[in-house]
Amino acid sequence: MTAVHTPGVPVVNDGVLISTNPATGAEAGRFPVATAADVVEAVAAARTAARWWADLGYAERRRRLLRWRALLAQRITDLADLAHRETGKPVADAVVETASAIEHVDWAARNARRVLRLRRVRSRLALAEFAAHLEYQPYGVVGVIGPWNYPVLTPLGSIAYALAAGNAVVHKPSEYTPAVGQSLVDTFAEVVPEYPVLQVVHGLGDVGAALCRSDVDKVAFTGSTATAKKVMAACAESLTPVLLEAGGKDAMIVDADADLDAAAEACIWGAFTNAGQTCIGIERVYAVETVHDAFVAKVVEKAGRLTVGESGDIGPITMPSQLDVIRRHIDDALDRGGRAVLGGPDAVRPPYVHPTILVEVPEDALAVREETFGPTLVVNRVRDADEAVTRANAVSYGLGGSVFGRRRAIDVAHRLRTGMTSVNSVLAFVGMSTLPFGGVGDSGFGRIHGDDGLREFARAKAVTRRRARSPLPLMTFERTPAQVSRIVKTIKLMYGRPR
Ligand code: NDP
Repeated sequence: MTAVHTPGVPVVNDGVLISTNPATGAEAGRFPVATAADVVEAVAAARTAARWWADLGYAERRRRLLRWRALLAQRITDLADLAHRETGKPVADAVVETASAIEHVDWAARNARRVLRLRRVRSRLALAEFAAHLEYQPYGVVGVIGPWNYPVLTPLGSIAYALAAGNAVVHKPSEYTPAVGQSLVDTFAEVVPEYPVLQVVHGLGDVGAALCRSDVDKVAFTGSTATAKKVMAACAESLTPVLLEAGGKDAMIVDADADLDAAAEACIWGAFTNAGQTCIGIERVYAVETVHDAFVAKVVEKAGRLTVGESGDIGPITMPSQLDVIRRHIDDALDRGGRAVLGGPDAVRPPYVHPTILVEVPEDALAVREETFGPTLVVNRVRDADEAVTRANAVSYGLGGSVFGRRRAIDVAHRLRTGMTSVNSVLAFVGMSTLPFGGVGDSGFGRIHGDDGLREFARAKAVTRRRARSPLPLMTFERTPAQVSRIVKTIKLMYGRPR
């Protein structure tokens, strides 16, 4: 019989991490907790594996990665079910998440050679006697630290791209989702049995910290801004480069000429999918005053129809401690003069939170400035799209966002201080494997996905090769005063005019 524990709280017992379902407390799996020595050992094994994997070359790595993608696709419902059991998210949400992850494995496998391979780069007149070559070489071993909210998609956004670029990976999944992390690694081992090219180390935050200090060549971290700072500080000790995908407070702008039905439908999904536990989830809406009331009526009507429960549209809050944050944000918004037009303080019924929509919330409220990570939404009225942009950009985060409108929507999208924006949709950029994904400000830096996501896991290596004698010898002690004055004349001729 499956053991039942306190819902959602991972237990460490005798060196074993026990993962549990946040709604029922049913056990989802048991995994040995890695010691710091285990982490170092995994990284050492990964180093040998990395050399073998890099030597396989693009064509063979692509073949292996596409076989892995095929296994993930064949087992999509098993993986989604596992994610449901560990996070409590609806199976349908987990299917959508896994489908998006599979697309990224496919794209990374198929495009690594095009983006990273050795190529000739044009020389300039100044050094025309040299040929220039560029390639993107793998780092070696990449540590990937992941969160629990999208335990398939988020780690794979780094893992698939790092592997395609020729690196070995040691993955530390969240303590809330070790079974999903283990399953990704086990599936990969079926198509790459020779060496431990992708490994997993389990445990709490200290295991992630050990990974940062374990001689990996790069750390790709996805999680909260507070932990991102600790990861960066740990990596600074050894100048280990970092990619930081941190939190968000994404806004949607609804302009006067928006299709309000489409905007309301997208908004409800963007705000409440995965119970609002989405880094790029819509947490704020700025609706232009001419459409604000009609928009609010539509979102309230649609959100009121969502079901909450183990097999509802909105599942449990995965991390019990987040319930306090959500409650605090709702209370603070109401204390400062905001109004709940749906839900409110009573909406927090552990382990669930029912949809809550707040209006007229002052811009300095926690619910406007800090990541809430629950099924709550602030909809504030603005004069016009310009004021919406100013308010949307006034927070420290800058991850994604959305604009609904016609005439000015694209212009508004470009003015948002974020890494990604969807026009007339929400979250669409995350599944678009050709586009980079990442944030600015407190949302972190570096990019996964797309060409930039492949280059993130490789070092640019430049090689110049002399192909003729230099007409103007710059780089030698044997240059003569006459040659130096010819250099001066040539530089004035080439660059001395402003155009
Ligand atoms: P956390 O920051 O709490 O944890 C993230 C990972 O870091 C976990 O594996 C955690 O381990 C590990 N960790 C904890 N402490 C340390 C440490 N000192 N050194 C190294 N690793 C450590 O985030 P959550 O798991 O709660 O994830 C939710 C957050 O992730 C939200 O803020 C969300 O916005 C963000 N996120 C960002 C995304 C993006 O792409 N920008 C995508 C998805 C989520 P353990 O769990 O065992 O403590």
